[in-house]
Amino acid sequence: MKRILIIGGGAAGMMAAAAARSRGAKVVLLEKNEKTGKKIYITGKGRCNLTNACAPEDFFRNVVSNNKFLYSAFYQMDNQAVMDFFEKAGCGLKVERGERVFPVSDHSSDVIAALNRKLEREGVRICLRTAVSQILSDPGMPEKVSGVRLSDGRVLSADAVIVATGGSSYTSTGSDGDGYKFAQRAGHTVSKLRPALVPLVVREAWCREMQGLSLKNVSLSLKSGKKKIYEGFGEMLFTHFGVSGPLILSASSYYAKKINNMPAQLHIDLKPALLREQLDKRILRDFDENKNRQFKNSLNGLLPAKMIPVMIQISGIPPEKPVNEITKEERTRLLECLKNLALTVTGTRGFSEAIVTQGGVHVKEINPSTMESKLVGGLYFAGEILDTDAMTGGFNLQIAWSTGYLAGISAAANTVKGEKI
Ligand SMILES: Cc1cc2nc3c(=O)[nH]c(=O)nc-3n(C[C@H](O)[C@H](O)[C@H](O)COP(=O)(O)OP(=O)(O)OC[C@H]3O[C@@H](n4cnc5c(N)ncnc54)[C@H](O)[C@@H]3O)c2cc1C
Repeated sequence: MKRILIIGGGAAGMMAAAAARSRGAKVVLLEKNEKTGKKIYITGKGRCNLTNACAPEDFFRNVVSNNKFLYSAFYQMDNQAVMDFFEKAGCGLKVERGERVFPVSDHSSDVIAALNRKLEREGVRICLRTAVSQILSDPGMPEKVSGVRLSDGRVLSADAVIVATGGSSYTSTGSDGDGYKFAQRAGHTVSKLRPALVPLVVREAWCREMQGLSLKNVSLSLKSGKKKIYEGFGEMLFTHFGVSGPLILSASSYYAKKINNMPAQLHIDLKPALLREQLDKRILRDFDENKNRQFKNSLNGLLPAKMIPVMIQISGIPPEKPVNEITKEERTRLLECLKNLALTVTGTRGFSEAIVTQGGVHVKEINPSTMESKLVGGLYFAGEILDTDAMTGGFNLQIAWSTGYLAGISAAANTVKGEKI
């Protein structure tokens, strides 16, 4: 019977363990924390958006880095298979807006409990508080893995090792970058690590004045010079350092990937439902209703209160100016602020606030049909440690489940065939 060691009891590692065990291998899961699934616990604001019930092409469209690398993995365990897996493991699911899938209970702990039950029932040995410090190969055969060394010095031997140590974000959950060091020592290239799905820092100080203000139904585009990098519609939030919220997190993945901490321009359309001419008519109507007021008292129907002083400042229209004296040119400037509020992005926030890590083990050095290293036999990688990342919506966990499953069944290949999980 093949003996497989899995480093990391997160989403990818636990799925890999279930998969390898179902194919008849002897499986030991090594997790340095005192419990498994610490990151799963905080996903989806504690509700765990564990996958997305979209069509396959939408899954691939939502993967930001190296989506083609994921074809085999996704088709081995697609989103439907993930949902079947959890339903069968006793975790009822529901589909919400945007095809996001959550446990019926709204508790991420039920996702972790289902995985733990499955591993226990199948006879996976789980070693908690067990940190791996090194991946080993026999001195005479450096191109084949032979086991791991634990941080207490003990050596465990194995036919295959699956590295599922996660990325570099939210290190308190245990994913603090150990796996990248293992990969590099094994000769792998680790492409530049960047925080992604992360708030953006902007230059304009007036942003801070709107701290806490959340805007729904705005559209934005992110540009580097004239080149459009990202375009989207949704909800955003102003903070003390810049901008955040779902729409900004999505934009940040493309900022991280394509602009790499150089300044870029964010253009926000506060009234995307109205064409310029329609919005101009609407402003004229509001001005007509407020014609005897000062400009600063005429914008309540158009903007949230926190935004009014800022928009007055940017438009350059004197706040005390009577509305009936505002010129066409001034009105056009206001219109421009509403349709094209411009911000300068200067960088992202750090890994401690990033939902995923962009970059990781170079996928060209991994066999996409098995997740095995092309450099070291018997060494597999799964989950966020790989250079793949996706938008929010359950796609990152889907990557972890799919690559974990494929690594598990591949590592266990040639052992006694068991039930499909
Ligand atoms: C706040 C937040 C919310 C998120 N929400 C969602 C969401 O709703 N939907 C979604 O799809 N994605 C979400 N994500 C992303 C998703 O959680 C990750 O992409 C996913 O958990 C990655 O799984 P993984 O198994 O690769 O890594 P992890 O889940 O990070 O697991 C890695 C494990 O390896 C262990 N480990 C590391 N080094 C060692 C070592 N040397 N020895 C032993 N063990 C080790 C760690 O302790 C850890 O338990 C969220 C992320 C964050 C931070």
